[in-house]
Amino acid sequence: ADAEAPVRCGLRAAVLGRGSLLGKGTGAKVSERPARCRLGTIPLSMASPALLMRVVASAYSVAEKAATIVRNVMSAGDLGIVEKAGPNDLQTKADRLVQMSICASLARKFPKVTIIGEEELPTDDVTEDLIEDGHCEEILKKPCPAQYTGIKEEELVIWVDPLDGTKEYTEGLLDHVTVLIGIAYGGKAIAGVINQPYYNYEAGANAVLGRTIWGVLGMGAFGFQLTEAPAGKHIVVTTRSHSSALVNECITALNPDHVIRVGGAGNKVIQLIEGKASAYVFASPGCKKWDTCAPEAILHAVGGKITDIRGNSFQYNKEVKHMNSAGVLATLRNYDYYASRIPNTVKESLVP
Ligand code: AMP
Ligand code: MG
Ligand code: MG
Repeated sequence: ADAEAPVRCGLRAAVLGRGSLLGKGTGAKVSERPARCRLGTIPLSMASPALLMRVVASAYSVAEKAATIVRNVMSAGDLGIVEKAGPNDLQTKADRLVQMSICASLARKFPKVTIIGEEELPTDDVTEDLIEDGHCEEILKKPCPAQYTGIKEEELVIWVDPLDGTKEYTEGLLDHVTVLIGIAYGGKAIAGVINQPYYNYEAGANAVLGRTIWGVLGMGAFGFQLTEAPAGKHIVVTTRSHSSALVNECITALNPDHVIRVGGAGNKVIQLIEGKASAYVFASPGCKKWDTCAPEAILHAVGGKITDIRGNSFQYNKEVKHMNSAGVLATLRNYDYYASRIPNTVKESLVP
């Protein structure tokens, strides 16, 4: 029944994204560099990085700060768990603080961008300690794909899942958790940042904890080692906490060699790009646009494909319905193999 949980949020966050969360008088302006520098001889591309690259570079740092918040809330021990639609739809203090941090930080730098976050939050002022104003210098140095150099702030929509895999976070399955910042233009996911705050957490005290994966369509994806799934094996990754008869019927029909059940849409797409699984299959409503936007951009940037169970691509314009009502089908390779084996009965049970 929880698969039919209503969409509850986003609208207010969209308003937050336009700046109301910042309160009055806090909006330190990011200096808009002139199109030409004073010498007048430096090419445009060197004088001022394209907006998209500045947004991705900032989202990278904002996601790293988010990861620190996720870890700090857990180590402080009080998760402040709230049930949203039901016991399988949770929100913690980390979901709340991270969303405030991401939305306020990006809105301050990019006030005309639409930012839509998962959590419904009061429009109180955000404390300065939640603001991240840094950016990743390395990303800024990379050339923006030509088709995106002319994008204006008001044309971008940023979809924020402050903490994907909340249920698993509350159960201590920490490496399932990701922070997702997806960037859309013209209704398409074109760039994304996925931070995995507990990457490596089982590798011992000396291991570096956490990582940030990012990607842009036409450029590629970085921060991980692209790995093919075992050849000739069909390994399906799916939900562990939002199963249903239909979810299982669909997987059975694919006759996989192995099924991996883990939390998080971000985490499942990571399983695809690191060769742990060959298909992400979720024949159920429940996933929202903030779950799929960043993972989609990264998967597509490395040549993969994600659609709903019926083969429709996802749209990410600001007016779109939040719920991915017809589920998720994603692969790095061999999309057609899986798509052609989804039973019609399953497709007909899921209405986009
Ligand atoms: P999962 O694979 O179960 O971790 O789901 C991926 C994303 O979709 C997570 O953000 C979940 O919270 C969300 N999701 C999937 N199914 C549901 C559901 N039935 N109710 C609420 N959220 C869901
Ligand atoms: Mg999520
Ligand atoms: Mg979430």
